[in-house]
Amino acid sequence: MALRRRQALNLMLKPHFSRVFVMRPRSHADGVTEIGGVRLADDRVLRARSVLLAAGALHSPRLLQRYIERHRLRDATNYLHEVGRNLKLHLLTAMVAISPSLKTDLIRKTRIFFNDEVPHSSVQPLGFDGELIATLIPRWVPKPVAKYIGRRSYGFFLQTEDGSHGDNRAITPGITDPAGADYPIMDYEEARLPAALHEHRRLISQFRAALLRAGMIAFSQRVGLAGTAHANGTLIAGDDPDTSVVDAEGKVHGLKSLYVVDGSVLPRSSRVNPSLTIFAWSLRTASLLAKQLGQTSACAAPISWFGPCELSRYIDINSRQGTE
Ligand SMILES: Cc1cc2nc3c(=O)[nH]c(=O)nc-3n(C[C@H](O)[C@H](O)[C@H](O)COP(=O)(O)OP(=O)(O)OC[C@H]3O[C@@H](n4cnc5c(N)ncnc54)[C@H](O)[C@@H]3O)c2cc1C
Repeated sequence: MALRRRQALNLMLKPHFSRVFVMRPRSHADGVTEIGGVRLADDRVLRARSVLLAAGALHSPRLLQRYIERHRLRDATNYLHEVGRNLKLHLLTAMVAISPSLKTDLIRKTRIFFNDEVPHSSVQPLGFDGELIATLIPRWVPKPVAKYIGRRSYGFFLQTEDGSHGDNRAITPGITDPAGADYPIMDYEEARLPAALHEHRRLISQFRAALLRAGMIAFSQRVGLAGTAHANGTLIAGDDPDTSVVDAEGKVHGLKSLYVVDGSVLPRSSRVNPSLTIFAWSLRTASLLAKQLGQTSACAAPISWFGPCELSRYIDINSRQGTE
């Protein structure tokens, strides 16, 4: 509601959901291409001085890739080859630790454990109570037994930074491929990341041993591609257009007014969950844009929350109808 009341901010919900991201670029004499807005699924065009792309690490590269293909930007600029590459997911394992005694406490997800011997890894509690943990126990175990175990268990979430590999990527089916539909394809193999895989296995065995010393027997289950919740790094930030997609300000190399403000930009996934890093990146890009647009409010100061930033005043979203 607070957002809705802001002047010059047009918040569109599901009915306006944009499937396509197509706005003919304007090329400048210096070879830089400018994006003037977006075209929505219902064909309306929103013009803006700056466009911030935040469709997530699987969809942002898809939208950008289609845009590049449709307007043949890759041929014209000889960059943007890295779009979709360096997909990262974290190596993840769920672990249930069972003890002989009933658990009357609950370790919430607000705790995180590190160990210097596995420097790219972390362990956090799942934050589940006995009833929820019981749902993680294989279905063939009779329900009363699962409940009994659940009431005597803690759940943990083990994660390791997986590192960037160019062949791990989100692939966009070509715009001419009718079967390609709207879904990206994930080509991701842990075997391309042997160091990360080695550390993750070490993390599992060390943590299991530590739990055993504390009197608990642990069972673990790797979380694979289908269960991942941390996709990031498909439009990575960097100085070199040959090895990255956006610059340090989040602006797509060679495109004047297109910024990426989601998990796609992360060159590394780090050993912790990604949301706060993504928020920080987005707020930083907003601050930098505010400066560029001559805004001198609280946003020009170190990053603050949306309220004082008056985001709506400098992100110029005009819902004027129009054509390219
Ligand atoms: C079950 C679950 C639990 C998680 N728990 C945590 C946690 O505890 N801590 C943590 O840090 N992270 C957690 N994560 C991860 C976190 O949610 C993601 O890393 C984060 O949301 C990624 O942010 P994003 O902006 O990159 O993309 P998203 O949050 O995915 O946002 C992208 C948005 O773009 C929209 N979109 C896509 N295509 C289009 C289009 N064409 N037009 C318009 N809109 C479009 C999508 O609908 C979506 O709303 C969790 C994830 C899941 C699934």
